[in-house]
Amino acid sequence: MGWVCVFRGTGLVDAYLARDWLEASGLTVQVRGDLTTIRGEIPIAESWPTVWVSKREEAAANEALRLMRGPRLVRGPWTCPACGEEGDPDLDACWQCDTPRPAEEPG
Ligand SMILES: [Zn+2]
Repeated sequence: MGWVCVFRGTGLVDAYLARDWLEASGLTVQVRGDLTTIRGEIPIAESWPTVWVSKREEAAANEALRLMRGPRLVRGPWTCPACGEEGDPDLDACWQCDTPRPAEEPG
């Protein structure tokens, strides 16, 4: 059975939060790259833990992670303040003029 990486932590805490969240969602989860087992063998910057699920649970895991991250990653289209182009919801800067996306409006 294949495994896919669905989450790359920037520290131990968020990887384990992701693991706990996914397990609470009924998924089978592996954490790889745990600092407590590999400490000293590879550089810290390359050793943040990653969270893996089986291939057939990938979609469910991604959906669960989207919910875990909350509304800040569920963003709508936006309009570039510099050139007026409509930005892609997934981009943090204008595709046309590279102006950074403005902060979210409240509400
Ligand atoms: Zn622009």
